[in-house]
Amino acid sequence: MAVEVKNVVEIFVDQYLDKTLDSIPGVCRCEQCVADIKAITLNSMKPKYVSTSRGEVLSKLKAFDQGNQVELLCIVKKAADMVMTNPHHEVVKKKGNVL
Ligand SMILES: [Zn+2]
Repeated sequence: MAVEVKNVVEIFVDQYLDKTLDSIPGVCRCEQCVADIKAITLNSMKPKYVSTSRGEVLSKLKAFDQGNQVELLCIVKKAADMVMTNPHHEVVKKKGNVL
């Protein structure tokens, strides 16, 4: 069985970003803004790397989950504020790729 090194924080953010953004009113959900928010969130959180065989990630994620949802919500809110203050999606819109 292959053993991999994974950043649990990134898996966690992938899983919860959508749900967290649902609880923030007025946040833009275009691809650009969501990607920006995710990047800022990941930069703000300490990465937590684990070596894991396939299938084990979920149990590690669960352990990580409990203590970190509140922190994640707080960081995502800050990241969303930053992105909404200075959104990058204008460039995309001008090219006609709106949502
Ligand atoms: Zn946007």
